[in-house]
Amino acid sequence: MNAIRNYMDNILKAVTSTAKGMGITLRYWALEPSITVEYPDRLGKGVTAEDLVSERFRGFLGFEPSVCIACLQCQRVCPTDCIKVGTEKRDEVRFITRFDVNQAKCMHCGLCVEECPTEALFFTKRYEGACFDMEGLCFSHVGEPVPAAKRKREDGGQE
Ligand code: SF4
Ligand code: SF4
Repeated sequence: MNAIRNYMDNILKAVTSTAKGMGITLRYWALEPSITVEYPDRLGKGVTAEDLVSERFRGFLGFEPSVCIACLQCQRVCPTDCIKVGTEKRDEVRFITRFDVNQAKCMHCGLCVEECPTEALFFTKRYEGACFDMEGLCFSHVGEPVPAAKRKREDGGQE
């Protein structure tokens, strides 16, 4: 008798738990707004991939040469050696001749961004970089040489 009761109990449990699960599925399907998107084909009108990530997302590195003082701190601190900065002095003016970032080697640790004293280096929200060879993830942020920004002295002046 006990065996039959257990058997019937199990059937009842299976039916009620399936009904509960289906109820949740139906609620999300019919009433709740969609929380996933079909990426990348159906982002929605005017929505870009960058809009989908959080404010503090660490995507590819961005570089603003006009505030870079060419201190090379970012290059020194990078544990995977993916930043290469080139400088040259011409008539007492320092130029940045090269600022390359190998995003294929970057682990997005943020040390370079933290270390940069002028916020010339920052994370963007860009993350789409699928390509057929690693060279496609090596970015050159400086074309023609650009004069390095002046360093601020401790007394507030510029070097
Ligand atoms: S985020 Fe980290 S790994 Fe990437 S370039 Fe900066 S220091 Fe290097
Ligand atoms: S990006 Fe920042 S840390 Fe790197 S060389 Fe320029 S100022 Fe220095």
